[in-house]
Amino acid sequence: MKVNLMHGAGGEVMGELLQILTRLEHNNAGGVGLEALDDGAVIPLGGLNVVFTTDSHVVRPIFFPGGDIGRIAVCGTVNDLAMMGGRPIALSCGMIIEEGFETGDLERIVRSMDVALGECGASLVTGDTKVLEKGALDGIAVNTSGIGIADRVIRDNGLQPGDLILVNGTLGDHGMTIMTERAGLSLGEQLKSDVAPLWGLVEKAMHAGEIHAMKDPTRGGFASAINEMARKSHVQVRISETDLPVRRSVKSAAEMLGIDPLQVANEGKVVMGVPAKDAGVILEAMRSHPYGRESAIIGEVVAGTHVIMETSIGGERFIEPPVGDPVPRVC
Ligand code: MG
Repeated sequence: MKVNLMHGAGGEVMGELLQILTRLEHNNAGGVGLEALDDGAVIPLGGLNVVFTTDSHVVRPIFFPGGDIGRIAVCGTVNDLAMMGGRPIALSCGMIIEEGFETGDLERIVRSMDVALGECGASLVTGDTKVLEKGALDGIAVNTSGIGIADRVIRDNGLQPGDLILVNGTLGDHGMTIMTERAGLSLGEQLKSDVAPLWGLVEKAMHAGEIHAMKDPTRGGFASAINEMARKSHVQVRISETDLPVRRSVKSAAEMLGIDPLQVANEGKVVMGVPAKDAGVILEAMRSHPYGRESAIIGEVVAGTHVIMETSIGGERFIEPPVGDPVPRVC
């Protein structure tokens, strides 16, 4: 088998590659390890839950409406820490740069990283830079790793029957923005990526009530994240189509390009499962945060398997995880 673009797209095909990459015996340092394929690892250390995660970023174009590769590089890692309940503390950054890359663009990227770090109170404390000869890579690739501290660890496999499913706003914005930029489509209303660091919002939600499970619907979109949560938790999730927040502009771009907006990446969204008794106060807490104004309760957890969409016309269908994200190099 040879590696192809679908192997990096976050869908079901990526599982084939992960089978090779996760064939390690030394994969767990005592808490949550690589075998869990959660958003990050947890290492219990001196009475603390140290959360650790890493992410590489190769988005094309590197500057897009709503963000750039620098903002994604910080938010991708900060959000994976936050999804485990971890307050982001410190990040590393490894940059691989192609010969000929404009230093002005590099300055823009670094400034953007700094703004995102400031938003969530984390610092970039160590890094590495390599330059490759022209043609050896397409512009720039940015890897960030991060450590955080979790007072309470939250997993992606903790959904329970009776939980309600919450999301902090509209779905599909980032993926459809990248897709329309690449297709050179101009729509009446400008699409904009949702890329944002979510620790502040997650912290508010955690203080408001109990959260049973969390995941960020990045590559593979909401469809991939909710299926993974349901499968790992051994439950069925029922989603109400009429309650799903999707921007009109995202819907029309998706129709034009023949892409399901639930299958494309978000970079500033969290999907949560919370006990019904806490859903109201958590929703209120999320809506009080700038990145949660359009938060909504979109479904419920019941006994069973699979993710079912209750459609707006009263029917039912499966929400299937995508085979591969329809947008390669989306983050
Ligand atoms: Mg994640």
